[in-house]
Amino acid sequence: HAKAAGRNGVAVFETKMLAAAERQLTLGRDLSAALDNGELSMHLQLQVDHAGQPVGAEMLMRWRRADGTFVPPDIFIPVAETTGMIVPLGQWVLRQACLARLALEAAGHPLQLSINVSPRQFRQPEFVAQVRTAFEESGVTPHAFVFEVTEGLLVEDFDMITAKMRELAAMGIRFSIDDFGTGYSSLGYLKKMPLYELKIDKSFMRDTPHDANGTAIVQTILAMADHLGLRVVAEGIETEAQARFLAENGRPCMQGYLYCRPLPLAELVARLDRGG
Ligand code: C2E
Ligand code: MG
Ligand code: MG
Ligand code: MG
Repeated sequence: HAKAAGRNGVAVFETKMLAAAERQLTLGRDLSAALDNGELSMHLQLQVDHAGQPVGAEMLMRWRRADGTFVPPDIFIPVAETTGMIVPLGQWVLRQACLARLALEAAGHPLQLSINVSPRQFRQPEFVAQVRTAFEESGVTPHAFVFEVTEGLLVEDFDMITAKMRELAAMGIRFSIDDFGTGYSSLGYLKKMPLYELKIDKSFMRDTPHDANGTAIVQTILAMADHLGLRVVAEGIETEAQARFLAENGRPCMQGYLYCRPLPLAELVARLDRGG
């Protein structure tokens, strides 16, 4: 009997795997059409300093299907990574970011813009050249941009990655480690790479300040960034208690629903016009 249940368990598992694989395939196909069909857009989420003043914004991709339903980035970005679709998508994001910056400048709000760059995109041999072209064609200064990368980028080909980063940094682009502390890489890279910023992951902020362990991790990241001369953005700030804690502990920049949801560019500009 137990044996039968076991076999049955395997069958259920296989069926689920197949269904998941099929979903990924469909999603991958739909995603490549989505770019051509205008189903993708960028939202921007404000980053504020300790006094609540806007200092920058992160560009976040949105996929709204023709039937009106949203597919979350946590679902479609990994698929785009696997299929390689992230490469043309990333190029598109870069152009959107240049356009957004031009619009913000024209509106009198020259915010620094953060862009998520995926490992697959970064590892493309033409990546540096494509970035250079995007900035040259739009006439936007690379100093206006922060590239957010994750620790996952840093586990392989460390020298190649660092060399590319230096080339981009020489152009004026700044680098941020997104979701800092959630990857598996050693801390050694922190002193070898041209970094500007660490982003404290929202999973750590979720525990702060009510949980002693989570809070200790946040405090340690803040102290380390301070010693290394790095800027910090704390992600996922949803409560006054979190903001108060940060005001008393290093005063990093903050990003979260407490201040601003990710918004279409026009809505962000309207908000900035009203005074942040
Ligand atoms: P991320 O880069 O760590 O972005 C922060 C995520 O936290 C965003 O999720 C944002 O909407 C969400 N967030 C901001 N404030 C709060 C808050 O107070 N509470 C909570 N619970 N969440 C908050 P989103 O937009 O769903 O994006 C998820 C992930 O997808 C991003 O994580 C990033 O890794 C990836 N992603 C999004 N857009 C792009 C893109 O253009 N290119 C690439 N390569 N990845 C992207
Ligand atoms: Mg990010
Ligand atoms: Mg993050
Ligand atoms: Mg993330």
